Amino acid sequence: MPPLDRWLCLQNRRVLRREVAGKEGRIPNGENVPDRPLLIDGAFELGSAEPFVILDPATGQPIDSVAAASPDQVDTAVAAAVRAQTAWQALSQPERSAAMHDVSAEIRKRKNDLADIVTKETGRPYVRNLLYVDMIADLFRQYAELARVHGGRIAPSNESGQLSLVVRAPYGVIATLVPWNYPLLLLAFKVAPALATGNTVVIKPASETTLTTLVLAEVFAATTPPGVVNVVAGSGRTVGEQLVRHPHTDMVAFTGSTEVGAEIGAICARLAKPTHLELGGKDPAIVFDDVDADLAAKAVVWASFLNAGQVCTSTERVYVHGSIYDPFVERVVELASGLRVGEPFDPVTQIGPMRNERGRSKVLEQVAAAEAGGAKVLTGGAILEGSSGFYLEPTVVVDVDHSMELMREETFGPVLPIMTFDDDDEAFALAADTPYGLGASCYTHTPDRVRRAYEEITVGTVWVNDPVVDNLAAPFGGMRASGNVRELGLEGMEAFTSTRHVHWNMRLEDKPWWYGDEGD
Ligand code: NDP
Repeated sequence: MPPLDRWLCLQNRRVLRREVAGKEGRIPNGENVPDRPLLIDGAFELGSAEPFVILDPATGQPIDSVAAASPDQVDTAVAAAVRAQTAWQALSQPERSAAMHDVSAEIRKRKNDLADIVTKETGRPYVRNLLYVDMIADLFRQYAELARVHGGRIAPSNESGQLSLVVRAPYGVIATLVPWNYPLLLLAFKVAPALATGNTVVIKPASETTLTTLVLAEVFAATTPPGVVNVVAGSGRTVGEQLVRHPHTDMVAFTGSTEVGAEIGAICARLAKPTHLELGGKDPAIVFDDVDADLAAKAVVWASFLNAGQVCTSTERVYVHGSIYDPFVERVVELASGLRVGEPFDPVTQIGPMRNERGRSKVLEQVAAAEAGGAKVLTGGAILEGSSGFYLEPTVVVDVDHSMELMREETFGPVLPIMTFDDDDEAFALAADTPYGLGASCYTHTPDRVRRAYEEITVGTVWVNDPVVDNLAAPFGGMRASGNVRELGLEGMEAFTSTRHVHWNMRLEDKPWWYGDEGD
């Protein structure tokens, strides 16, 4: 068949699926789907283990419940991913990329459904979620195209008449574990490049955002062959750990807390299984004296309170030059106390609730401990008056120091602690004083300060005058306690491939170092 006809033929999903899975009659279409099913081997089925309840963060009341996957269902999902992987990898890149474009288009079609459910489950304002859905559609499109042009390389050979092919090959089946704060985006950071490079995935969403992921599962069911994407629900300790330890998952891609990431890393080290870990952070921001204090305050408030501070790259500690400290703090307090905290579907809401009581209590404890140590709360610091759910007032704290947990441990909530500094050496030393290494931002117009920021603060991303922005084309990720890999950009795709080498002598010919007939 001519290549174009073959390609067109493969656009027909039924044919594509049949070729890949070798199974007719199991093509899901999203119709007559039972209530909240899991996606296993291209078919929707209800979990057969205990159901768990998902709470609405805005009200604290149940939204729904989902039956968790049983150990047998997890095994079935992994087996399906193993079966599908060989054929998925064997597709030509244009064929695989075409399916990725289908995923992107389908996400756009389901934009409102996805934004709706992610708003219910995360409490983040709906208007922002619409933008995130566009971003994940863009990611699938980006990796569909990047994978078409980015292969391996040819290394210089030892001798003429040889080829040294450096081949990038998929790992196989990726166990994918993601958190609740950006359940679609963080999933796409991993799944889009993993699929584009020929891996298959078994996803275990965060329990609190399972419904969102099950809606996304309908997108995959409609666009990818059976077994290429599987979604199993349940707790991290049961379903998550089963996937981590499973003998047929070839890599564990995890975004979440440093604590759980370290546990997963330890398990995988014993199994010699590669990991792809994106973990917690305690990002600093340095505000130098050569910028407009008002504007810097606006940027910092955005970077600290976005998604109620539940962003891995939230600005969690701020260092401000003494000469602009007073106007900066005054403006920060004015802006923070004026933020519109409210119901996530209300179009004027800027900040929604926190996701859970566990997170809110942790924040309140950190703030109380800082106050006991001499810190002062200038605004916020309490549960939002008259609210149900897990709301917390945007909080600004001063008179803090590095003896306080608030300045050392991840807070993951709407709190902005501010310290002052006298000179650049002190600012860089304070910013670098952390075991984490996710991101850092600085506000300056001085190039040498930018150089010092990326040389002296060990982080994956330095933002200058524009914090917490993702550029899908550039790498993102943590160092040290914040992770071991890069997502996004070309690097994000390479992370899902292993490097292999083919040393190819074009002809079989005698080599002087081979054992000779005389037996030397
Ligand atoms: P967790 O580490 O608690 O959980 C993350 C995911 O892992 C969830 O799906 C969870 O399931 C699962 N899990 C939990 N325990 C295990 C286990 N023992 N084995 C396998 N899987 C497990 O993180 P959170 O969901 O609370 O997310 C917040 C954290 O994520 C913060 O620390 C934040 O900084 C970090 N994060 C990092 C990012 C980065 O790019 N570096 C981006 C965003 C967040 P379950 O929900 O069922 O417990």
